[in-house]
Amino acid sequence: MSTPTQNPLPGPDGSVARAHVAIIGAGVIGLACALELARRGKRILVVDRGEAGCGASFGNAGWLTPSLAFPLAQPGYAFKALKWMMDPESPFYIRPSLDPALLRWVSIFAFSSRRSKFTVNAPALVGLCRWSTDAWEAIAAAPGPDFGFARRGLLVVLETPHGLETARKAAAYVETLGIPHELWDSDRVRSEEPIVTGNQIGGILYTRDAHCVPNLAVARLRHEAEKLGVRVLENREVTGATITHGRISALRTPQGAIEADQFVLAAGYWSADLGRELGLRLPMRAAKGYSLQFARGAVHPTRSISLGERKVTVTPHAERLRLAGTLEIVGNDSSINERRVNAIERGARGLLTLPNERAEAKPWAGLRPCLADGMPAIGPSPKHRNLWLAVGHQMTGLKCAPGTARLLAELMAGEKPTFDPRPFAPERCC
Ligand SMILES: Cc1cc2nc3c(=O)[nH]c(=O)nc-3n(C[C@H](O)[C@H](O)[C@H](O)COP(=O)(O)OP(=O)(O)OC[C@H]3O[C@@H](n4cnc5c(N)ncnc54)[C@H](O)[C@@H]3O)c2cc1C
Repeated sequence: MSTPTQNPLPGPDGSVARAHVAIIGAGVIGLACALELARRGKRILVVDRGEAGCGASFGNAGWLTPSLAFPLAQPGYAFKALKWMMDPESPFYIRPSLDPALLRWVSIFAFSSRRSKFTVNAPALVGLCRWSTDAWEAIAAAPGPDFGFARRGLLVVLETPHGLETARKAAAYVETLGIPHELWDSDRVRSEEPIVTGNQIGGILYTRDAHCVPNLAVARLRHEAEKLGVRVLENREVTGATITHGRISALRTPQGAIEADQFVLAAGYWSADLGRELGLRLPMRAAKGYSLQFARGAVHPTRSISLGERKVTVTPHAERLRLAGTLEIVGNDSSINERRVNAIERGARGLLTLPNERAEAKPWAGLRPCLADGMPAIGPSPKHRNLWLAVGHQMTGLKCAPGTARLLAELMAGEKPTFDPRPFAPERCC
């Protein structure tokens, strides 16, 4: 028996109209795309199997930092990945397995870690992020619900000469991409950020970086999008699609079919599962990470802090201090590994004076959607005539969301894109 079709968008005359675009996934990427397309006069429907923003976009570190917007695959990482496989407490952990999907992912990852790839992909991602940070600032400056946006910079604190040297090289590199920095000695680090009480030998301040509260940023995007008529359907799982001659006519959900002219896949890590239903073979793994929060203590940082060698991120919100870290390559596994969570807290306490107790007993776990070459896929599906992809943002989904949406909307409209679309082209990985 066929399920009823839903055409759920009210038109200006009160009649119901079919969506121009149906977006699968109401994370930061899906909602940013919805807002950008609605600004261009499109009728948009966003469908999520849970509540909007319940995926990786909920509890991430909240960093809007072009200084650290690199693809996951970086020179030297192929060799390091082998080492990390042996250490379950390492900040980047690949659980050893003979799963063919993992082996395919690791081999593309290793191949993409070449310098020649990095020198094309990194500037593309940094540029997308730089533009997006300004776009987030513009959203924050306009009237609407606050999402804790603050552009006070990011301080990377280093403990070893090797760490400092590596960080200086990275800073010199991103400076060539328009990201300014200052070098601070250890006294300056201590005096500007008295929460740093452990032994360190200096820091690098990226002056134009920003941060926000991630779940509130998603809520703000939804607020802005709904003001323009975007409809968000929650608790509707998309299970497949009706496809004729390479064209999607409707999405299947248990509650009924959803029709639209065009479709955007923005389902984060789970885009791979859905992609398979649609005939795409996305080499996607999740990079699981955790965040935990403390109530604001007597000494609260002014800006975000990266504990360079310890790979722990520190984000100061108005009433909370958030720690985040670890990157564990997994499948669909959001379980919490206390050993790894404790390693984040222990690492932070090695350099910072933190409040004694966490604010919440349960840490948060999120799945960063990672395509094997570490770059997002933004653009047309090579296998469908009316499907678009905005997936695989790994560690950069929040910080690249507005730029992703701009690029996608421009490509959908056939306009000259603001960013070179080639490094993001989905055809490289489908
Ligand atoms: C610990 C940690 C720290 C991080 N820190 C940062 C940071 O500081 N800055 C930054 O930029 N990024 C950060 N990230 C990465 C960032 O969180 C992700 O890149 C981003 O959230 C991805 O957004 P998304 O919209 O693609 O995916 P998600 O937020 O996961 O959204 C996907 C949505 O699709 C829905 N969905 C899935 N399947 C279906 C289906 N079949 N039908 C309907 N809906 C479906 C899900 O319910 C979900 O709501 C961090 C991630 C982690 C884990």
